[in-house]
Amino acid sequence: MMLQPGLMMDRPLLISSILEHSAAQFGDVEIVSRETHGPLFRYTYADCAVRARQLASALAAAGLQQGSAVGSIAWNNHRHLEAYYAVSGSGMVMHTCNPRLHPQQLIYIINHAEDEVMLFDSTFAPLVKGIAAHCPKVKHWVCLSDAANLPVIEGVQAIAYEDWIAPHSSDFIWPEFDERSGAALCYTSGTTGNPKGALYSHRAIVLNAITGCLPGVLDFSPKQTVLPVVPMFHINAWCIPYAAPIGGAKLVLPGPRLDGASLYELIEAEQVTLSAGVPTIWQALIGHVEQNGLRFSSMRRTAVGGSAMPAALIAKFADVYDVEVRHGWGMTETTAVATMTSMSPAEMALSASERHALVAKQGKTVFGIQIKVVDEHGHTLPRDGSSQGELMVRGQWIIQSYFKGEKSPLVDGWFPTGDIATIDAQGLMQIRDRTKDVIKTGGEWISSIDLENAAVGHPAVAMAAVIGIKHPKWDERPLLFIVRKPGQTLEKEEILAFLTERVAKWWVPDDVVFLESLPVGGTGKVQKNDLRKEYGGVFS
Ligand code: AMP
Repeated sequence: MMLQPGLMMDRPLLISSILEHSAAQFGDVEIVSRETHGPLFRYTYADCAVRARQLASALAAAGLQQGSAVGSIAWNNHRHLEAYYAVSGSGMVMHTCNPRLHPQQLIYIINHAEDEVMLFDSTFAPLVKGIAAHCPKVKHWVCLSDAANLPVIEGVQAIAYEDWIAPHSSDFIWPEFDERSGAALCYTSGTTGNPKGALYSHRAIVLNAITGCLPGVLDFSPKQTVLPVVPMFHINAWCIPYAAPIGGAKLVLPGPRLDGASLYELIEAEQVTLSAGVPTIWQALIGHVEQNGLRFSSMRRTAVGGSAMPAALIAKFADVYDVEVRHGWGMTETTAVATMTSMSPAEMALSASERHALVAKQGKTVFGIQIKVVDEHGHTLPRDGSSQGELMVRGQWIIQSYFKGEKSPLVDGWFPTGDIATIDAQGLMQIRDRTKDVIKTGGEWISSIDLENAAVGHPAVAMAAVIGIKHPKWDERPLLFIVRKPGQTLEKEEILAFLTERVAKWWVPDDVVFLESLPVGGTGKVQKNDLRKEYGGVFS
């Protein structure tokens, strides 16, 4: 017998269909956007679809074609959202640039992607001034503003987005094409070498976004109001701008103001029920809420990822503020979320501290993703919760090759993540470290993440980071960096005594450095390379 072909239609999974779906089903659901200038902007999915089609007409009139790339250097706002749909929907590639990259890296990625139009926020006018002359392929610099707020940028002929799209019709018909075509491009914020591009297909994004709507993942529905704090230039804001319209959730875009006070004000004003971002954002938000004796009247869940979320912060959200934390793991190469907190009924019945300890792990794979951990010879390690090795991942939205990359990074069809992890018998994965951050001491490994999480459990600690320092006898030993909370007087002896009670004796750091702040990179991760450069000498 031969395989029987299925007899269902073969309709492509295209990003344009998401917005048209939400315009038709959730046409009056609101999108609220904090602009760089002026008051909150609000309109609906139906309005957004009209303007996205208008932008698509403008792009076509500018001579761009299927496969052309359009860059953005922009905050999360409504015009950026329109661009997400107009560019990809036209069969072009939406290249979201991280404005926090070094200008030389920005120039590199814009040229590498061959961006022909650059959509930028007026905040980044100084950045544009510095890079424009080095990006010869960019024909149009379009400021995501109206004419009144168009900055004058010496040497750059910029045009306001509103003027650029105004003459064009919203009658644009979205083209149909192969769902495996490139839709969006995001470069890794790699600390060594040039950034590498992950080119997401329509299929990968749509499948990931549908998964994001599952109740056990992000649970988007018209009952939710979602605030993606995670930037639209960081892995497509974890695909929330695609998933929220699929589920019909109200979307709140925070624009440039990401400090605790501004976020709190927006959460309350728009009655946000669900938000998503990196742990440093939530640290700042909770700091503001605590200092001012505030409560969340609507927010009941937050999705966290990008770096490990310490159990102490999970506990504070859950026990003090009644906000459930869902902890996810993913990377630029995985389109968005790959694993997420998922509790069985038995786990939900555990004590609060036992539950928080589980949430501090990085969760279970969402449908579509498979993971394994392997030793240095590539042998699969047991799922016993303690055998640790490199995390390998595969699935429908996992990278196969880097953009213009010569050699696929895959090993036997799996992507090596560079993360060290364990997986237990229930499939619960825990990131123990990056391969390059793990501290090798006397032939054993110390997890810098575990040590940092333990240190953040001290009430006087705002942030913590651990790096390995060369040691003549032990190979490497841990050095701990602490940022104290405002007004706290924590000293070395006290934090080391605190850690001694919580980690193995040989894990206790050899020294502690107190800093005013930690170097944080473009995607909210502590830049351990900067710490290594400054402090990475030799312990005697
Ligand atoms: P990026 O591609 O810049 O988003 O970085 C991806 C990397 O961030 C992963 O390979 C992990 O090392 C780290 N990461 C992401 N999510 C988590 C998490 N929940 N816990 C710990 N590390 C994480």
